Amino acid sequence: MKPFEKKVWLATPTMHGDELAYIKEAYETNWMSTVGKNINEAERIVAEMIGVQHAVALSSGTAALHLSMKLASIKPGDKVFCSDMTFAATVNPIVYEGGLPVFIDGEYDTWNMDPASLEKAFELYPDVKTVVVANLYGTPAKLDEIRAICDAHGASLIEDAAESLGATYKGKQTGTFGDYNVISFNGNKIITGSSGGMLLTDDIDVANRVRKWSTQSRENAPWYQHEELGYNYRMSNVIAGVVRGQLPYLAEHIAQKKAIYERYREGFKDLPVTMNPFTADTMEPNYWLSCLLIDKDAMCKQVRSDNEAAYIKEAGKSCPTEILETLASYNAEGRPIWKPMHMQPIFRMHPFVMADGDGRCRTNAYIDCGKADSVNADIFHRGLCLPSDNKMTETEQTQVIEIVKSCF
Ligand SMILES: *Cc1c(COP(=O)(O)O)cnc(C)c1O
Repeated sequence: MKPFEKKVWLATPTMHGDELAYIKEAYETNWMSTVGKNINEAERIVAEMIGVQHAVALSSGTAALHLSMKLASIKPGDKVFCSDMTFAATVNPIVYEGGLPVFIDGEYDTWNMDPASLEKAFELYPDVKTVVVANLYGTPAKLDEIRAICDAHGASLIEDAAESLGATYKGKQTGTFGDYNVISFNGNKIITGSSGGMLLTDDIDVANRVRKWSTQSRENAPWYQHEELGYNYRMSNVIAGVVRGQLPYLAEHIAQKKAIYERYREGFKDLPVTMNPFTADTMEPNYWLSCLLIDKDAMCKQVRSDNEAAYIKEAGKSCPTEILETLASYNAEGRPIWKPMHMQPIFRMHPFVMADGDGRCRTNAYIDCGKADSVNADIFHRGLCLPSDNKMTETEQTQVIEIVKSCF
């Protein structure tokens, strides 16, 4: 096999032409700031598509998460339960407000926050009032169960649907299950504005507060009058033009991503691996990234320090490090699973809760817990994300499958 001449990417933006027309319209009418028709239309279309009353366009998903923390009234020292195996942007905004993230282990059915571990966390910390759940790689978490646990404990739920735009759970769009919901238009998401994000809510007062905070919190006065802390978090009308142009293609992108996922599943059916899972009777993912998990007894020896990885090659077995290095040698881009937050040096002193045992682990699950690995450490150890770009051709994907096979 020869290396790919054109790099095969994990996920890149897919433009259609309408984006440029809307950018041009903003330019020609001189609506080049943070007000204009593109913003209004992008907000209207998203609210209608997702089935929420209000969508507020912001500069990023991270900004939307930050304002969600303010809406949830996180105060310095407040503990907040959150997904552990996710992009750091799910968690950092808790810390911006002085909150203390408490990481919750995952489950094997969807790779998301484990409801049993969340329940355990409320036993350990009954006073916690906020939960942040992410839908990993476009697969919804067990959102009904998580919502019910939050309700039972009087906690508000922030749904980080940054990766799951267009995915449904029990027939309902993700980004509607939280009290505050977040989507992202970052450059490698399924729909992109090059950057950008939105906060979704059914509450008009919430939407109004977010609009105000995101534009420096001006009061109604003849001059710049301020009673509250403000932020420069509003989406630009140029970016909104890209988003507005992309939105009609969400279903098409999902269909392409689904085809990629299914070809991988078929291609790997004789290998000791499984694809990132979902529960077909309750959910339809958006298939943002296709990932695989190597069976425990098919793992060759792999060790990871903070900055490096090494493995020992073994016939019939493989490991994420070997597959990622081999893909790279053929000019194809894969990625490790998000390294769990409880294993990150910056968060090592934060509590981490697992459903079994005493449910509590204060540092890295491998080193200090003295008990079985957490679900998340295990998925990080055995899993990886495959090239999932919707412009990848079938021929290219067939070669990716052959490359992965050659590692075993
Ligand atoms: C991309 C992403 C975000 C952040 O979105 P930005 O728009 O890049 O700020 C938050 N959470 C998750 C899970 C993400 O994947």
